[in-house]
Amino acid sequence: MLRIAVVGSGPSGVYTAEALARQDAVPDVAVDVVDRLPCPYGLVRYGVAPDHEKIKSLQGNLRRVLEDPRIRFLGNVTVGGALDPQALLSLYHAVVYCVGAATDRRLGIPGEDLAGSHSATRFVSWYSAHPDEDPDEFVLRARSAVVIGVGNVAVDVARILARGGEELRRTDVPDAALHALQDSRVTDVHVVGRRGPSQAKFTTKELRELGGLPGAEVVVRSDELALDPAYADPSGLPPAARRNVEVLRGWAERPAAGRARRIHLRFFLRPVELLGDDAVTGVRFERTAPDGQGRVAGTGLLEEIDAQLVLRSVGYRGVPLAGLPFDASAGIVPNNEGRVLRDGQPSPGEYVAGWIKRGPTGVIGTNRPCAKQTAAALVADAPLLLARALPVDPLEGLRALGAEPVEWSGWEAIEAAEAELGRSLDRPTVKIPDWAGLLTAARPIL
Ligand code: NAP
Repeated sequence: MLRIAVVGSGPSGVYTAEALARQDAVPDVAVDVVDRLPCPYGLVRYGVAPDHEKIKSLQGNLRRVLEDPRIRFLGNVTVGGALDPQALLSLYHAVVYCVGAATDRRLGIPGEDLAGSHSATRFVSWYSAHPDEDPDEFVLRARSAVVIGVGNVAVDVARILARGGEELRRTDVPDAALHALQDSRVTDVHVVGRRGPSQAKFTTKELRELGGLPGAEVVVRSDELALDPAYADPSGLPPAARRNVEVLRGWAERPAAGRARRIHLRFFLRPVELLGDDAVTGVRFERTAPDGQGRVAGTGLLEEIDAQLVLRSVGYRGVPLAGLPFDASAGIVPNNEGRVLRDGQPSPGEYVAGWIKRGPTGVIGTNRPCAKQTAAALVADAPLLLARALPVDPLEGLRALGAEPVEWSGWEAIEAAEAELGRSLDRPTVKIPDWAGLLTAARPIL
């Protein structure tokens, strides 16, 4: 039997497990999907915004894969320390790392660490009930928030701030975050891009959604659109960028609706400094101008936007895992079609898929072909991998190395506890936001 560990149970990990279980070349396979958290689904559970029910429902598809008898979920297993890549490889013929990009990119400008300045990824983790976040971390006393970056994460956090709590009551957002959002004083959210509207990274579907929020309106300045060379004639743009420009143009021409909250979409402003002594009071930007080659150059003109909350939403970044090679400039594990490269050579039995393989780009579905490519490489290597004798059940080996795995039944118990928590609060399922709560639910004391 070919025994494989997949590290990480987000979309890339689950799609990898699926591709390995459903291939025909090696009929006898057993895949353990291990995760640091006691809960599966990675960013589908801890990154997709709570009001994106349709994308969240993907959990149903991932669940069906993890219920395949050839696949076993083992949560609460941290790779590192005694259970390092070498130890893991002594328990399995192959290990596929699908650990994503676990941290945020930095701006590298003064004031970045002032109180009130956070990475958007932490804000996302907070409203998604990630157990590493303090449930009481965000008290939204700010009236004005600046979101730096114009990708889909920026759109998500701006939308959640602009929705306020009441609209999120019927989602699985944790209770402390719901109350903070209900009590929020934020009236203005400025989402700021350093380049032009035709170069924004958000997708049109997500952008359009901002225009449909009941209590908020989108404000776009036509003079900033006009700075974009593509604005006058967007016909030469790639379709996605053309659609974005058209949506923004429509909003710029619309009269103000006088709603309680506003999302200001701003362009051609590069952040140079976060202002404030102890806590952030604003952001200083430099106006930029297109250089004709897709980039921008500074103009020397400065502009400040008041803000008591700053969310830096400039992309995720991969983190090195001790014992695995790492390309720090790209934030990925060096690989060839998913085979981990050590000193330029494929390392037998070690693979990667997802963001740690190719960088933090693409939508959830992008991970499926990426995972298939890695699985195909592993299956092609199977005759070599199977030559190595292994202990009978890796679960015993994991336990011997100090792991206390939460198995699928434990996860089901967490799901039941979250449904019960929701019932007690007169809400749908409500996520448990802390380690103690999750582990107690997973292993009820009988
Ligand atoms: P992203 O799409 O890479 O966007 C990052 C943004 O930050 C860009 O606007 C970028 O501008 C800007 N930026 C980078 N460095 C900067 C700097 N030093 N100063 C100012 N701005 C800077 O990253 P993301 O929004 O974190 O999203 C990550 C991935 O998850 C994407 O593939 C996204 O589509 C996906 N995602 C999808 C959804 C969804 O489908 N609903 C939701 C969330 C995330 P430049 O372009 O100028 O570099």
